[in-house]
Formats: sequence, C-alpha cells, structure tokens
Amino acid sequence: VTPRSSRTIRTRLTLWYVAVLAAIVVIYTAVAGVLQYWQLTRQIYHDQVQDMETVEALLFFTPDGRLDLRQDYLSTPAHRLLIDRLMEVLSPAGEILYRNERTGTLDLGGPRRPGEGKASFDTRRLRLANGVRVQLISHVHSVDGHPLLIRLAYSLDPVYDRMRRFFLILGLAMPLALAAAAVAGQGLARRALSPLEHIARQTAQITATRLGDRLALDNPDDELGHIAYVVNNLLSRLEASFEQLTQFSSDVAHELRTPLAAIRSVGEVGLQQERTPEAYREIIGSMLEETSRLTELIDGLLMMSRTESTNVGATLSAVRLADIVQEAAGLVEILAQEQRTTIEIIETADTMVEADSLLLRLAVVNVLHNAIKYSPGGGQIMVRLGATQRETSQLVRAEIHDQGPGIAEADRERVFERFYRVDTARSRDAGGIGLGLAIARWAISRCNGTIRFEHPDHPGARCVIELPAVPRPA
Ligand code: ADP
Repeated sequence: VTPRSSRTIRTRLTLWYVAVLAAIVVIYTAVAGVLQYWQLTRQIYHDQVQDMETVEALLFFTPDGRLDLRQDYLSTPAHRLLIDRLMEVLSPAGEILYRNERTGTLDLGGPRRPGEGKASFDTRRLRLANGVRVQLISHVHSVDGHPLLIRLAYSLDPVYDRMRRFFLILGLAMPLALAAAAVAGQGLARRALSPLEHIARQTAQITATRLGDRLALDNPDDELGHIAYVVNNLLSRLEASFEQLTQFSSDVAHELRTPLAAIRSVGEVGLQQERTPEAYREIIGSMLEETSRLTELIDGLLMMSRTESTNVGATLSAVRLADIVQEAAGLVEILAQEQRTTIEIIETADTMVEADSLLLRLAVVNVLHNAIKYSPGGGQIMVRLGATQRETSQLVRAEIHDQGPGIAEADRERVFERFYRVDTARSRDAGGIGLGLAIARWAISRCNGTIRFEHPDHPGARCVIELPAVPRPA
C-alpha cells in the first residue's frame, strides 16, 4: 500500500481542480466585464440619441437671433439623474451658439470637424478639461434653415464606477471561492480515491498470502470495477502459471525418479552376488540405457526452459516444407528401418512456407518419431503435403498418417501437454519421455503455424501441421 503516492494524486487533483476553476472564473469575469461595459455605454448611447431628438425639437431662435432651448422638457425624462448632461451647439462656421448651464464655458468637442454629425450620430469618447471622461455624440440638425451641429456629452464616470465595483466584488470573492473549492475538491478526491486504496490494500494481502482470493467487485461497470476485474484476471493468470510451475516441477521430479530408481535397483540386484562378466556387462548395459533416457529427458527440459525463458526469436524465411520433411525422414530413417516401417511422402502442391527451418525440422522429426514408435512393425507412414485455405490466408498443410493405435478423441489435445502420455507403460517401453509433442507444438507456434491431431479416415493417428504459405512469385 502506498498512501504517500495516493496523497500526491489527491493534491494534484485538487490543484488541477482549483487551477481550472480559477481560469474559468477569470475568463468569466473578463467576458462579463467586457459585456457589461459594452452594454452600459450602449445604453448611454441610446439615451443620448433619444435626448438628441428631444433637444432638436426644443431648439429655437429667439426674435433677437439668439439660439435657445425650451426648458420645459427637463422635468420629463426619468433617467436624467444618472448622467451628467452637457450640451453645446455650433454654427456652420464653428462658432458656439449655445451651451447649457451645466456646461458653462467648458469646451466639449473642440472645433467642428469636417463632416461631423452629418450622416448620422457620431460618437467618440474623450476626457474634458475638468478631468471628466465623457461619451460625446454629435448630430447636424437644421433650425430655421441653419444646419447646426449639436453635441451632447454624457459622463462615463458612473460606468467606470460600476465596472470598478464589479471587479472589486469578484476579486474579493474569488480567493474565498477558490479556497472553498480547494477544500471541497480535496474531499472529493479523497472520496474518489479511497476505493483505489482499498483495492491496493486488498491486492497486497492477496499477493502476499492467498493467490486464490479475488477482489470484491462492488460495481463491475464503473472504472474501479474495471480495475478490480483486471487485477482479478491478473491474479487468475498468476495462479494458473504458479500451479503449472508447481505441477511441472513435481512432474519433472517424478520423471527423474523413475529412471534413477531403475538404475539403483539394477545396481543393487547386480551387487547381491558374484556374477559372470557377461552378466555384469548386461547390468551395466541396462543401467546405461536408463542413463541415456535421463540424458534425453534433461536435454528436452533444458531446451524447453531455455527457449521459454529467453523467448528466442525464430528466424523465419521461405523454406520448402517438402524438403524439411525429407530431411526429417532421413534423420529417423535408422529407427524406421529397425521397425521395418516405410515413410512415403506425397506432394500435391507447392509447399513454400514462411518458417524457421531448424524449428520446423525439429517438430516434424518428433511427429515422425512418434509415428514410428507407436506403430506396429512393418507398417507405413504416409506424409501428404498440400495447400489449403483458412479464412483469407493461404496455408500449406502436412498430414502425417500412421497405422498405429491412434489417439482417442479425448486425448488429442492433452498429448501436447508436457509429460502427458496416453498409455504410460507403452510409451515408456517405446522410450518416450512425454516432451516430444510439447516441443513440436512450441516449435510450430514459433513459426506461426498450428499442429493438432485430427480424426483419421482410416485406423491410426493423423497429425496435421499447417503453416502460412509464401505466395509463389509471379
Ligand atoms: P512421448 O515421449 O511419450 O512420445 P510425446 O509428447 O511425443 O511424448 O507424445 C505424448 C503421447 O502421445 C505419447 O506418450 C503417446 O501416448 C501419444 N502419441 C503421440 N504420438 C502418437 C502416435 N503417432 N500414435 C499414438 N499415440 C501417440
């Protein structure tokens, strides 16, 4: 159990959570601020346009030629309290014709700009001489045939005030909110991770003591259930391979004990009385026979353990299966002659395969060896080589058919297990150690092929090897 690392994950999760939240709040504040500013200035603009239209209707020239504003409108609009209204009117020549009371002598927009307010309502923002920032709109309006430029300037201070307050409140609230989020986030992370710690504790107990135990699956469909499922699977595989290993060691011990016991008893019996040199020679001969079985057994075991532990890579190349079978038949020829068994090879198709020739020959030799060993003398072994198709892949197929007792349906898979023998006594008599087919299957699988026993169409055993074909060059 490693609570330290889970605490690190918890802290990291919390930090991430807080950081993401902070980023969201900052982005939200910025966007909300911009929108609010835009909305407020927009509102001012709308008010200004409305006021402009009101003012335009109220401007008039007095009989003495002065421009004036009918003041009775001032009591009507409700929102005027909010904003400072400043107003000036310029003649076409740029001379100031009118400034309202609040404006006094304050210069609102400077000299008349070319085209200012002609087309529609011109807007700009500027700072006045008294330091007030305003939004100014200008519009040209004809009074008694004089195109006058009317300027209305509204203070932006209330807007800036509101913006300041908005950011201040959010700025003060943010650290508090983030602190609360950190506390909540840590609690959440702890809650989310606690089943994981539970799983770790349980797994540690299981691997330390009882491999047969499994993790409890509270909810197999959520992520933790998935972890528990994977761990359980792993435990099952571990348990299976431990069992296999234990079984293998006890099999090996058993296999070694039998020839050793035989050597020992032959020796003990031999020593019980004086014997003729011929008798001694015979005793030594049978001891040597058992010794060579031992050697063969140990060689087989060594080869399997070496290849399995180092996982040596097969060097695959294009080889002709027919050639390999010929070579293998040559290697078992002496044995076949002793049994008066003939081996016939029939090739019905091109047999180029992708394989490791050494491994392939090893497998074929083991199968042929069995075919000879388990057949009565004087029989025939038929090797039929041809092509076949499985799904989309093109395969080369070798069938090795003998005239022995065959293998019962139930044993056809088991004979590939190490040390498995159908008839222990017969197999031992035949000099078998129970590794031949296990080695053959391993070798063929390294060549990406398969080997199995199929139901024969006439008495005997039918061993089938299939390997990926190499397409013949066009
Ligand atoms: P062994 O060294 O005992 O031959 P194998 O792994 O080569 O070990 O074979 C396993 C068992 O399969 C043999 O003990 C034998 O009982 C059976 N077997 C293998 N090949 C044949 C065959 N051609 N005919 C009958 N039985 C066979």
